Amino acid sequence: MKDIQFSRRSDLGERIGVSFEFFPPKTDAMEARLWEAVRRLEPLSPRFVSVTYGAGGSTKARTTSSLARICGESTLDAAAHLTCVDASRAEVDAVIHEFARLGVRSFVALRGDPAEGVGTTYRPHPDGYRNTAELVAALRRIGDFDVSVSAYPEKHPESADFATDIDVLKRKVDAGATRAITQFFFDNDVYERYVERVRRAGIYIPIVPGILPIQNFRQMAGFAGRCGTHVPQWLADRFDGLDNDPQTHALIASAVAAEQVLDLIERGVEDFHFYTMNKADLVFAICHLIGIRPGAQSERIAA
Ligand code: FAD
Repeated sequence: MKDIQFSRRSDLGERIGVSFEFFPPKTDAMEARLWEAVRRLEPLSPRFVSVTYGAGGSTKARTTSSLARICGESTLDAAAHLTCVDASRAEVDAVIHEFARLGVRSFVALRGDPAEGVGTTYRPHPDGYRNTAELVAALRRIGDFDVSVSAYPEKHPESADFATDIDVLKRKVDAGATRAITQFFFDNDVYERYVERVRRAGIYIPIVPGILPIQNFRQMAGFAGRCGTHVPQWLADRFDGLDNDPQTHALIASAVAAEQVLDLIERGVEDFHFYTMNKADLVFAICHLIGIRPGAQSERIAA
């Protein structure tokens, strides 16, 4: 029985694609942790790894140096997140050119949140790109880039309804986006219903689920509240009482994420984007479980 499961998982690994998201580190210690994670996950041959961008360019220097290091010192394809917040078109275009010079060929194009914080009214820069669709169009005009955008299975908190939300996604696709990565979610039925709605709207690009392995349940729950992700009671129950028990917390987190990913695979999903929080362990374990092993892809290519 075990052998059958193992070979099935290995076959599975052949068709599953993964990407990993990192954030630019603030301190030397955080930089060391990021690189530990990058080095551990690199042999899994992800489709790409992405580096986030603080709205308003607050992380520009750190995003740039992280991208430079990934492009220069690893075998990984780096994707740069980029927002429209508080920047003129010329400033955004200069960042695109700068990232392209580093070797970046993929972007995750975003509107971003207002500098005043999530929940405040978004106002475009007077000379800036007014929305994500305009940024996507600019990226496609400037270079032959692969452009991903965001998608919200539980709709963006600012969206009046799903129709508006999906209309915004459609505009981004019409402008040239070729992949959408979702906000993290925990209810796979919600994701499936969202994808059905998106397809009914005539959008056929991959809607890659964003998976957040839970490094810290309390922090995650606070963040989820701000970005409109529902935290089901069954999930809260699983982490109940584990605040001071990091080992059990990690085991439960790994089981929860594995369950979610395996269920999505059952539903036909073959691409996953992991929010790593710059930590490799949980992501590595989940990848192992779905047959993504170090060196597996280069062996596949060689064979
Ligand atoms: P969009 O999808 O363009 O729009 C979001 C919502 O705004 C729409 O659903 C709609 O409600 C409203 N809206 C926008 N345009 C219109 C319009 N023309 N008419 C009516 N309503 C409109 N943030 C960062 O700061 N840095 C990052 O690196 C980053 N990476 C992210 C990666 C992913 C995969 C995801 C899902 C989110 C990321 N975010 C990041 C968060 C994101 O910036 C926020 O969610 C932000 O509030 C919306 O940006 P967006 O590109 O998703 O917006």
